[in-house]
Amino acid sequence: RQAAFRTDLSSLLEQVGTGKESLSFMKRRIRRLAAQWSTAAQRLDSKLHRRWREQKKILVHVGFLTEESGDVFSPKVLKGGPLGEMVQWADILTALYVLGHNLKISVSVKELQGFLGVPPGRGSCPLTGPLPFDLIYTDYHGLQQMRQHMGLSLRRHKCHIRVIDTFGTEPAYNHEEYATLHGYRTNWGYWNLNSRQYMTMFPHTPDNSFMGFVTEELNSTEKRSIQLNKVRNMAVVYGKEVSMWKLQGKERFLQILHRYMEVHGTVYYETQRPPEVPAFVKNHGLLPQHELQTLLRRAKLFIGFGFPYEGPAPLEAIANGCVFLQPKFHPPHSSLNHEFFRGKPTSREVSSQHPYAEQYIGPPHVITVDFNNSDEFESSVREIMRSQVEPYLPYEYTCEGMLERVHAYIQHQEFCIPEAPFPPANGSRAWQGNPFVRLPNSTLLGWAANGSAPSCWPPLSALRLLESAEGQSCVDACRGADLVCEPAFFRFVNNKEALVRLEVQCEAVESEMNHIFPAFSVQRRECGLQKDPLLFSCAGLSPKYRRVCPCRDFRRGQVALCRDCL
Ligand code: UDP
Repeated sequence: RQAAFRTDLSSLLEQVGTGKESLSFMKRRIRRLAAQWSTAAQRLDSKLHRRWREQKKILVHVGFLTEESGDVFSPKVLKGGPLGEMVQWADILTALYVLGHNLKISVSVKELQGFLGVPPGRGSCPLTGPLPFDLIYTDYHGLQQMRQHMGLSLRRHKCHIRVIDTFGTEPAYNHEEYATLHGYRTNWGYWNLNSRQYMTMFPHTPDNSFMGFVTEELNSTEKRSIQLNKVRNMAVVYGKEVSMWKLQGKERFLQILHRYMEVHGTVYYETQRPPEVPAFVKNHGLLPQHELQTLLRRAKLFIGFGFPYEGPAPLEAIANGCVFLQPKFHPPHSSLNHEFFRGKPTSREVSSQHPYAEQYIGPPHVITVDFNNSDEFESSVREIMRSQVEPYLPYEYTCEGMLERVHAYIQHQEFCIPEAPFPPANGSRAWQGNPFVRLPNSTLLGWAANGSAPSCWPPLSALRLLESAEGQSCVDACRGADLVCEPAFFRFVNNKEALVRLEVQCEAVESEMNHIFPAFSVQRRECGLQKDPLLFSCAGLSPKYRRVCPCRDFRRGQVALCRDCL
């Protein structure tokens, strides 16, 4: 069946259900953004030239909202608890619905069992027939619940699952045997999925797919009126929970800030003003999303103190014409040195409170400085007050951008058909000869587009082969060349031909389970190829090795997609 874009969200709203504050929050959000989604759907429909899209049967099981997982989030919705996840799930549901898919939503184990057709307590393999869904979107809690209730049949069907995973899961942590043997085992990882089945909130490591969420967009009239009404000396502090105001050293920057600006906050409180919030701060209490937007429209500066990490609010502030001032982390925070990230299945180094804002947006919208340096902090505040900054929203965080990306994933990502190794063992004719060509006027190497290339998404024409420096990951090596690492291409560069093309001298070529491979050591003339495709990792790095990196081009403002990806 063909999927047709939907612009009326009323039946989605009915489907979301009631009875929890989290569901009400999501529905308010869906309602508030309905007009934007509708415009975006029409635009994408014409951009895709009304192309035929297959309608998928999709189950969305929001594990963290189930009573069975403890549902710690719902009671905190109105009390300053985390809302980022709710924002993202509301947007995922809307995107899938607007794209025209056949959607079922579950927020309890009972509903999950009903939708899957799993009778309670029927042995280790309760689902003997086919899975009644093409795709299941869930989270780590939901995955756990599915294992409990689907037993062994989960293994058969897991290629259909997509895991919404805010901070991401790196391949070394996802691979059960490897994680156990090499100290990457955490409470979350080791599901042996294809790492692209994990979908993140921001484009962290390209090993995972970037799902994202949306931010409200302004039309040109709104943009103009915002710029006229900006209050030059008005700052809003990022942090809706009191604990975020307890961070060390914060009094000092607040004092400096207060010398120049009127400081506003949206900290939740019950009856009394929290003592952590200084008297000079105008605290509005936790605001409904649309009132926060109104506040941000007037403010000049949105300032973070280092927590929460990587939330939606800075994008909302920037979209409303604020400058986001945030602390640089020196050394970077990670699961190795920070409580918050400890036990998370990633070694990613977080270089500031919001690395996406720092790396993908940057000045003049985002200023990242060392808050311990009072002079630097003070001069940043002064400079921000003088600056003229327009509202800005990256395309990938608009409704159209999210629809485009989710559409591309649904139509093209395929994890159920095993990927053949390359070159194929039987040396079929199509693969003879050297697959790599030197691009004119470039040191980069690409794929010979000779028509015999295997079908692949992203298309192989996007592949660029690079080597990293010692101790550098493919994430950074590709980024350094204004490209992104593309894990789907690892299988095409995990071979001797690629090493030859990089002019590597190998005395021996080993094939091993090692998340650094394919890689080589110049000094020892050792080369290593990857034995297990599940361990292909953009993130992996080692001081001893240069990585063999499959990079690709990307669309400005839509890093998940290459030029020919749509
Ligand atoms: N938010 C809100 N009222 C407030 C402060 C924040 O509704 O007073 C919303 C904000 O619009 C954003 C969401 O909370 O979409 C999550 O923001 P944050 O960046 O703080 O991330 P979190 O830590 O909650 O995941």
